[in-house]
Amino acid sequence: MSRPVRVLMLGGGYVAIGLLQKLRPAIKRGAVEVTVISRENYHVFHGFVPDMVTGRISADQILSPNRRIFKPARIHVAEIEAIDLQARRVTTSRKFDGRSYELEYDHLVIGLGSRDHLEAYPGLAEHAFRLKTFDDSFQLRNHILTMLELAAIETDPGERRRLLTFFIAGGGYAGTEIAAALCEHLHSLIRRDYPAIRRDECRVVLVHPGATILPELAGTRGESGDRKAFPRLVAYATRHLQRMGVELMTETRVVWTTPGEVGLSNGQRIPARTIISAVGTRPARLIEQLLVAHDAGGRLLVDDSLQVKDQAQVWAGGDCAAVPHPSGGVCPPVAVYALEHGKTIGQNILNTIQNQPPAPFRFVSFGQGVAIGRRHAVAEVKGFEMQGRMAWIIGRLLLLMYVPSPERRLRLLIDWLMSWLWGRNAVETSAADADDYEITHHVFQPGETIVEQGQRGRYIYLIAEGEVEQIERSAGHETIRDTLGPGERFGYTTRQAAAPQTIRARTTVRVVTIPCEQAAQLQQLLAPLTAAK
Ligand SMILES: Cc1cc2nc3c(=O)[nH]c(=O)nc-3n(C[C@H](O)[C@H](O)[C@H](O)COP(=O)(O)OP(=O)(O)OC[C@H]3O[C@@H](n4cnc5c(N)ncnc54)[C@H](O)[C@@H]3O)c2cc1C
Repeated sequence: MSRPVRVLMLGGGYVAIGLLQKLRPAIKRGAVEVTVISRENYHVFHGFVPDMVTGRISADQILSPNRRIFKPARIHVAEIEAIDLQARRVTTSRKFDGRSYELEYDHLVIGLGSRDHLEAYPGLAEHAFRLKTFDDSFQLRNHILTMLELAAIETDPGERRRLLTFFIAGGGYAGTEIAAALCEHLHSLIRRDYPAIRRDECRVVLVHPGATILPELAGTRGESGDRKAFPRLVAYATRHLQRMGVELMTETRVVWTTPGEVGLSNGQRIPARTIISAVGTRPARLIEQLLVAHDAGGRLLVDDSLQVKDQAQVWAGGDCAAVPHPSGGVCPPVAVYALEHGKTIGQNILNTIQNQPPAPFRFVSFGQGVAIGRRHAVAEVKGFEMQGRMAWIIGRLLLLMYVPSPERRLRLLIDWLMSWLWGRNAVETSAADADDYEITHHVFQPGETIVEQGQRGRYIYLIAEGEVEQIERSAGHETIRDTLGPGERFGYTTRQAAAPQTIRARTTVRVVTIPCEQAAQLQQLLAPLTAAK
């Protein structure tokens, strides 16, 4: 008896869900064996990230267990390290200790999604919250509550303003939806739980480089097959957001960000302790490094059957591939398309096994939409425009249909009901390990104060790039005592000590920070190593 055809599915996102929908009967018959490789043992439903970040649903409601939704496929939870198309082999490593594994295949399906475009502006990687992974969204959810707690006890008006300014870069679907949800969240929490904070102290600022927000609906996305413009919907969403209190700045870009400030292309500097980045994505590095054809954005070029150009039995779909749209252009990076890509790939693997020609990708989405807060949405269904509460209800029901686990669907409905009855979650939860060393990276812009003379603090700063000035302030005068550069350090040696000098960035500075107690421990641990050199 011949062995089953081995299919390796790289990534446990929507492409994998669509693939399994097609291949499940063949797996059960023993004709095909599918292994889904993913770095997590869960699937993330991005459509409800705004609800999760703003405490409307519990954090894990956006997750579905891979071992249940991909049944009866095999599950391999590990980091994909290398793809060898010649040898038809994929190498993975487990996070636990780095031990590696090799898996061979007959058909390879690449659905590795995208990563945040961290190079978009300086400071993004170090200081901006992203929305792509569960960890990112979970951290943001807690950070918002931390800012409210800090603001509630802060007496300095400048710092209070900084803590209560929430800045969103990128006015596409994700950025717009998060801005609206955040505005609603802050107003609801302040009314209910934070009497010490006034509503007008909170700022939600959304900046977008284009002439209007929602380029997907404005018809300016360019490369998508569906280019029809819906200016009335964009205008409605814009007015609605402004009425809610979101400050919109179009034709503006973020040029840098630091732990307490955002610099804009129009020259403005906005003090803010929260910056959320929704400025676009790029394919994973693994995809960019593959020696096959890519488009200008780094996505894999595939033909209309979703086979990677010139690579037999290698298929790709979802956000990491430039899939030709049946109406021209390429498919937009949304779950609805990724799911259908997976289905077409599944069908074409079956066709190949049965020596049939592959089928072309024919799916055209029935519409698109975005929630804009206060149970409102704008949507377009088959060209028909919808706005307001009905659009929101239809959008929610459609999103719910795409949640891969029926159990999660029910839990989501219960969570919505609970938050409606008892308000949103206001508990800061942390998954931090107390034994972990807390080493972080920061970027500061010229003129920014990093350490204030006379203030107490807790970090040692190691300069990786750039220069700072040590300034002594006395009787209203400033004297520059020294300039420090790469390899030098400043900051606090104990928590009790007040800073003897102010430290100010002279150039753009990159620093690595370590809490002072941990720095002392590290020094002791590393001393034998440096001595042995
Ligand atoms: C905040 C947000 C909101 C969104 N809202 C919507 C919406 O409302 N409607 C909609 O249709 N779309 C929405 N999208 C877009 C949608 O989520 C994506 O288009 C869709 O998830 C793409 O599916 P995919 O299978 O290509 O990739 P993903 O779903 O991103 O899956 C990629 C998989 O690859 C795995 N992976 C990547 N690299 C490695 C590696 N090296 N090793 C192991 N595993 C790896 C990941 O762990 C993951 O399992 C949203 C996206 C975001 C970020």
